[in-house]
Amino acid sequence: MTNSCFRTEVEKIKGYLVQLRREFHRCPELSMQEFETCKRIKTALLECGIEPERDFSEPAVVAVLRGTAGSGPTIALRADMDALPIVEKSKASYTSQNPGIMHACGHDAHMAMVIGAGIMLNEHLYQMCGNVKLIFQPSEEVYPGGAYSLIEQGVLENPHVDAILAHHVQSHIEVGRIGIKTGNFMAATKEFTLSVKGKSGHAAHPQRGIDSIVVAAQIILALQTIVSRLTTPTTPIVLSVCTISGGTKSNVLAGEVTMCGTVRTLDDSLGEQVRAQMEQIVRGITQSCGASYSLKFDGGYPAVRNDSSLAMLVKQSAAKILGQKTVFEIQEPSMGGEDFAWYQHHRPGVITNLGCGNTVKGIVAPIHNEHFDIDEDCIAYGAAVMAQVAWDYIDP
Ligand SMILES: [Zn+2]
Ligand SMILES: [Zn+2]
Repeated sequence: MTNSCFRTEVEKIKGYLVQLRREFHRCPELSMQEFETCKRIKTALLECGIEPERDFSEPAVVAVLRGTAGSGPTIALRADMDALPIVEKSKASYTSQNPGIMHACGHDAHMAMVIGAGIMLNEHLYQMCGNVKLIFQPSEEVYPGGAYSLIEQGVLENPHVDAILAHHVQSHIEVGRIGIKTGNFMAATKEFTLSVKGKSGHAAHPQRGIDSIVVAAQIILALQTIVSRLTTPTTPIVLSVCTISGGTKSNVLAGEVTMCGTVRTLDDSLGEQVRAQMEQIVRGITQSCGASYSLKFDGGYPAVRNDSSLAMLVKQSAAKILGQKTVFEIQEPSMGGEDFAWYQHHRPGVITNLGCGNTVKGIVAPIHNEHFDIDEDCIAYGAAVMAQVAWDYIDP
């Protein structure tokens, strides 16, 4: 097959993929509730002769395209399906019909892209020595993420998946461009809840109580020394206390203060170091003030690390579709998290940043914003790049 094949082929289904994306956009569903979305994906796949596989314990759709020209490797293409609890502010004809829920992270486009890649590759099974697995997963936005459970249920087996690819749209990148970060791309994340327990009493007599607000204030400032002093200045750490609550009245010492926050590092083991250091600081300060504490962490996501040889292949394949000049290496890693990391924990994988912005058309709102939208040309580009990567991976 010639290199420009998918670039041409995608033109035939481009209108259909845009229509599909708009359908998804009109009917957004929150994490782990993507049941209608799954039904629509299944129908779309069946309509073009792709039979979805067995069901999972949560809303998910998986289908395998089996090449018939011989045996070979399997590459998975992943889309996430969930929307966000955001009230959409848009006058577009395809604006959300589900009040308070919005596809503000572009997952509607991701689904259309994977369906598009599937439709195109399905026409070439007789030429393929290998397989392509389409994975539509729930709940990327909410911990512990949909990927973890699908992997536990064997989504990376039968056939054994050798590599996995996903796109994430980004509006700060112009449509037609694609960024790939080789190696460390996104952060390992941990969320924490910290409660400081003091002793309440009359605010006029602070010596008779233990003011948990004063203790909490010391802790918040001391925690920032972890960011500046635990590692070399060139190693990033994010430690943010994002909520704080305590106290009941202006003349009563607060008996307890509760704080929630996040820890992000590009290295899973550094995250563990931060956690230990936090414990030490909190223990030291509370002890010195006669207070007590509880500090709990959730499991978090591992770091997103793009496999270097797969990243090179993705760049080469993307250049065949979009042109050499539109493919670039992302310089700075992001401290955001992605549950795609779970797949990369088990298999070589790459997640790209696919441009969906268009400054001329005013499509600039960032993801997770109530005005977020995409230049829909990105859907065809994303689908064609995915098909090309799968093709090149199977038939190098
Ligand atoms: Zn998101
Ligand atoms: Zn997202």
